[in-house]
Amino acid sequence: MAIRRSATKRHGLPTVVQLRLTPTPGQADALAAAVLLCNQAATVVSRLAWQHRVFAVVELHRLAYYEVRAQVAGLGAQAAVRAIARVAGAYANRRASKKRAHIFRPHGAVPYDARLLSFNRDARTVSLWTPTGRATVPYTGRPDDLKAVDRLPVGEADLICRRGVWLLQVTVILPTPAVREPDHGFLGVDQGVANLAVTCDGVVLPGPALAGPIDGNGHVRTLRERRHRQRRRLQKKGTAAARRVLRRLAGREHRMMTDLNHQISKHVVREAERTGRGVALEDLQGIRGRVRAHRLQRRTLHGWAFAQQITFTRYKAARTGVAFVLVDPAYTSQACPECGCVARANRPARGRFVCTRCGLAGHADHIAARNIATRAVTGWAVINQPHATGLPSARRDRESKPPASTGGS
Ligand SMILES: [Zn+2]
Repeated sequence: MAIRRSATKRHGLPTVVQLRLTPTPGQADALAAAVLLCNQAATVVSRLAWQHRVFAVVELHRLAYYEVRAQVAGLGAQAAVRAIARVAGAYANRRASKKRAHIFRPHGAVPYDARLLSFNRDARTVSLWTPTGRATVPYTGRPDDLKAVDRLPVGEADLICRRGVWLLQVTVILPTPAVREPDHGFLGVDQGVANLAVTCDGVVLPGPALAGPIDGNGHVRTLRERRHRQRRRLQKKGTAAARRVLRRLAGREHRMMTDLNHQISKHVVREAERTGRGVALEDLQGIRGRVRAHRLQRRTLHGWAFAQQITFTRYKAARTGVAFVLVDPAYTSQACPECGCVARANRPARGRFVCTRCGLAGHADHIAARNIATRAVTGWAVINQPHATGLPSARRDRESKPPASTGGS
């Protein structure tokens, strides 16, 4: 954590804001030409890279610069440099497989860097490279986004035309506030199947719209199980039409989960901020390699949805200076937060927790969330006072994992 946190402090948090461009018809034509040309250039470079098995940016520049300028008429020096960097980036990030040459869609978003675009913040215009010269285009946007572009350092921007509307998606660097000491402990959050998220306060998430007694997200589960059965049926069918329906379902489910994850992480971070606490979740990485499948990884769930929840929460916490810790997930659902007794027998029935030693009873997800909160306090202490704990130095960087003995496992 120490390492990662200072890195965040130095660079800030990149975030994307969307501006709407209002070009004249003539400018719109020039922008469209720019998009086509840049994507064409990227594909030319990509083919060269693949043919010659050259993927590193410096070598690729040497190989492709003159070639792409010769092949793509009207491509300026800067746009050629940008196309080469873009191709190298695509292969490096494995967005493009090296098994075949990556093709850039003709109308796909085109990245503009500082040499291809410049802002005039007072006039609210942006000057963009096009093959027929610079176009100075006015922009509008949501008040918050405009304010961000006015005040913050801007990075790269993506130019894209979506259903006839020209958009500029600009990366701005948000300064991150210093992380506040979690004086009142941690808000532990248990992610699960029956309940997407339950906090150590006993709140079932997502949000007030779905809030209710524990197991209140039952309809979300029902919906997912129905989808799962539907998927199985379609997979068995295996026809082209079935595959199409499958893709549509996957997209819909993805959007639903993403939306729910946004709601949950927003609530959790706001609640932690309000009560002077940090936020703690289970470390999904820690589950990997365990013999028995963890309850988070059962079929009804998508691992990605849990990973996404972690990403969203971590990001929102960093943005507001709320401490964030990932804890070891071992036995969080079998350990008693009162007496520390760990036993499978503490779980007499699905969703129930009854401690066989001290008799503490409650909902299993709520108990797990309490254990997560407790482990986070220990974990935080380990990160922040590495010397006091006498742990070997290698341990310090593994911020998110408190010693396995805490919480009674
Ligand atoms: Zn107990």
